[in-house]
Amino acid sequence: MELPVVNHEDYFAKIGDDHKFPIKKFGSLASYLINKNIIKKFHTPYLCSEETLKKAHSENYIKNVKNKTLDQSSIKKIGFPLIDSVIRRSLVATGGTVLASKLAIKYGLACNTAGGSHHANFEGGAGYCVFNDVAVAAHYLLDRGLAGRILIVDLDVHQGNGNSDIFKNNRNVFTFSMHSKSNYPAKKSISDLDVELNDNMEDAEYIKILKFYLKQLNQENFDYVFYIAGVDIHLNDRLGKLKISDEGIKERDELVIENFFSKGIPLCGVLGGGYNKDFNKLIELHSILHQSCAKLIQS
Ligand SMILES: [Zn+2]
Repeated sequence: MELPVVNHEDYFAKIGDDHKFPIKKFGSLASYLINKNIIKKFHTPYLCSEETLKKAHSENYIKNVKNKTLDQSSIKKIGFPLIDSVIRRSLVATGGTVLASKLAIKYGLACNTAGGSHHANFEGGAGYCVFNDVAVAAHYLLDRGLAGRILIVDLDVHQGNGNSDIFKNNRNVFTFSMHSKSNYPAKKSISDLDVELNDNMEDAEYIKILKFYLKQLNQENFDYVFYIAGVDIHLNDRLGKLKISDEGIKERDELVIENFFSKGIPLCGVLGGGYNKDFNKLIELHSILHQSCAKLIQS
């Protein structure tokens, strides 16, 4: 069986190559997955509807983004210019995670080639995140009875503060964030389970800690998992402060995905952050998520 992977050419918003955020990675990752024969075709998402978005975001915020009436300080907090291609990208990438989340139920595993906008909260965006795609998709599944108790495994190097905020009073969604203690955001939110990592941590210690907490999480009865597989934990990342190797990221992804797949719990994988100094390496690292899922689903 081929791994279902959701992609859209509009993920690659036209903010310019000189922007700090390596936006062209979305186009390059899609080409890489096809050229390396990891998958043969993509599933194409629609723009996320306002009806679906408003479960995780205020109507006021959604309108201000769509009408480009967001105030300057809120735009600055996001870090992207509020232009048509960014708005379209934010809507279609969120629609992409919603589609991938449904495909995961059918196939056991599914991935988006974007997503993991975990800093966006109910009232606004932040840190290159406009809409919180995982929060939107989690609400979508719960509302339709497609999932009962959802776990968000967030292994991006930055804390998933948007998810912690959005789901702080929701007992049906458990937020687990394992992140760099000294990194953005300076003021962290409280997840159901936060694990703070010290600067310069290397593979062996990282994997040991992850195994320990996965074992704990296995005691709970989750029936659905979102996995935010940020690769900004890599030793050559511009924004991460950890020292995880290529092999360490591969081991991490395989560990997480296999843990839930082997128990028959659907898992939807999304990209998360990655700001590697080497662009080709960045694409290779992001593709580990898709390669790990593809390997399992084909076996
Ligand atoms: Zn990050």
